[in-house]
Amino acid sequence: MSPAVRAGVPEAVAAVRAAYDDGRTRPLDWRRRQLQGLVRMVTEREEDFNAALKQDLGKNPLEGYLTELSITRAEAEHALKNLTAWARPRRVPVPLGLQPAAAKTEPQPLGVALIIGPWNYPVQLILAPLVGALAAGNAAVLKPSEMAPASSAALARLVPQYLDPDAVAVVEGGADTSSALLKERFDTIFFTGGERVGRIVLQAAAEHLTPVTLELGGKSPAVVLDGQMPAVARRLMYGKLLNAGQTCVAPDYVLVTEDAAPELEKQLAKAARSLFGADASRSPDYGRIVNEDHFDRLVGLMEGGTVLAGGRHDRAERYIEPTVLTGVDPSAPVMQEEIFGPVLPVLRVADLDEAMAFINARPTPLSAYLYSNSAAARARFEQGVRAGSISHNASTVHLAVPELPFGGAGASGTGAYHGRRSFETFSQLRPVFTKNTLVDTLRVAYPPYSGLKKRLLRRLL
Ligand code: NAD
Repeated sequence: MSPAVRAGVPEAVAAVRAAYDDGRTRPLDWRRRQLQGLVRMVTEREEDFNAALKQDLGKNPLEGYLTELSITRAEAEHALKNLTAWARPRRVPVPLGLQPAAAKTEPQPLGVALIIGPWNYPVQLILAPLVGALAAGNAAVLKPSEMAPASSAALARLVPQYLDPDAVAVVEGGADTSSALLKERFDTIFFTGGERVGRIVLQAAAEHLTPVTLELGGKSPAVVLDGQMPAVARRLMYGKLLNAGQTCVAPDYVLVTEDAAPELEKQLAKAARSLFGADASRSPDYGRIVNEDHFDRLVGLMEGGTVLAGGRHDRAERYIEPTVLTGVDPSAPVMQEEIFGPVLPVLRVADLDEAMAFINARPTPLSAYLYSNSAAARARFEQGVRAGSISHNASTVHLAVPELPFGGAGASGTGAYHGRRSFETFSQLRPVFTKNTLVDTLRVAYPPYSGLKKRLLRRLL
C-alpha cells in the first residue's frame, strides 16, 4: 500500500497532489517509466491478477488475459510507441491580419485524476484509463470496485510496486469511500459504472467544476437482417456470454426480421450449447454472476419470455446457464433495464426501419450492432441509429482496436478513451500564441478608426 493510502482520504489525495505539484509527472521520461512499469506489472503478475479474477467472477485465465491484461498491455505499449508524437506541440496557421506571429497547441496534463472503476472488468477498467492519465503526465487516485474485492486488493498491493507510489495511489472501499473521494478537488474524474452513480459523480464534480468522463452502460441492441446464421449466432453468443454476460458492450437483446428469425433462433440455441458444452456449469471457461443480488435480479428477468435454450440456474454457485428467450414483449422487465447477464431476448421486427425506430425510441446505447451483408443496409444503420459506437457483423470485439475511441453518447456516457483519444481526454490542448514587439502591425487595428484603417481591416479580416 502506498504511504498516501494509510492515511485518510483527504490526506491521500493531498499527498498525490503534492507529488503532482513537484513537477515529476511532466517529463516524458517519467511517463515512459510508468507505462513500462504497467506493462511489466500485467506481464509479471498475470497469475496474481488471474487468481483474483477467478475468485471475484470465476473468470477463466485465458479470458482474464484476453479481456483484462492483454488489452491493458496493448494500450500501454501503443501509448509508449506514440507518446513522443502525441505530446508534441502542433503548429496552427495564423491569419494574415495577425502576422507576423506563431500559434500552436501544446498538450498539458490536467493534474490529479480520479479514476473510479466497476466490478465487471475490475482490472482493465482501472488500468486502461490509467494509461491515458499517465501518458498525458497526470498523477492519479484509483478507486477500484469493492464488489470485486480480490481484484481491488491485487491492484492495491501491486500498483505501488510497479508505479511511482507517491503519484499513483489506490484507495480501496465502497460507496462511502467513493463519496469521500468525490468531496475532494480533482482536475478530472474518469468514471466507469452505472447511470445512477454516474449522476452522483456528475453532481459532485459540479461543486469543483471538474471535467468528467462518464463511461456508462445501457441496452446495446443487435439487429439481424441476413448473413451466415451459424456465424452470426456464434458471434452474438460469444459477445453475450463473455464474463457471463456482465459486459457493458454485450449485445443486450436481438431484433431480427421475420424472414431471418427461424434460422437465427435455431442457431442461437445451438451456439449457446456449443460454446460451453451441454452443461455450462461444468465448463472451466464459463464465468459466474458477481453476487446473489444480481443473480436474483437475473432469474427474475428470465420470466420475461419463452426459454428457447438454457434457463437452468444454481444460486449457491451463482450460476446461470446461457439462456435465449423468445416471444418477449417489449414491455417486459427484461426489456426495461440493462440485463448484464447471460440472458438474450430475441424480438421480431418487420424490417430495418422498425428496428431503428425501436432503438431510437429508447435511451442511447453504448454500442449498436448490425448483422447484414448489405452495404446499403449498413450505411442506413450508420446514418439512422443513435449509439456510442456501431459495429457491423461483430459484437464487443471493436473495443480491442486501440485507435478506435471508446465511449458512449447520451445516456450511455460522455467523453471517450483508448489510443490517442485517452491521451487527449487527460490533457488540455493549450493554445499558445506568440508575437514579437519589433514589428507592431497590430497598431492598424487600434483606435482611432480612420477611413483607411476601416477599409484595410475589412479587407484583411
Ligand atoms: P456502479 O455504478 O454501481 O459502481 C461503479 C463504481 O462507483 C464503484 O467503484 C462503486 O464503488 C462506486 N459507487 C457506488 N456507489 C457510489 C456512490 N453512491 N457514490 C460514489 N461512488 C459510488 O457500477 P457497477 O455495478 O460496478 O458496474 C456496472 C455498470 O457499469 C453497468 O451499467 C455497465 O454497463 C457499466 N459499465 C460501463 C463500461 C463502459 O466502459 N462504458 C464498462 C463496464 C461497465
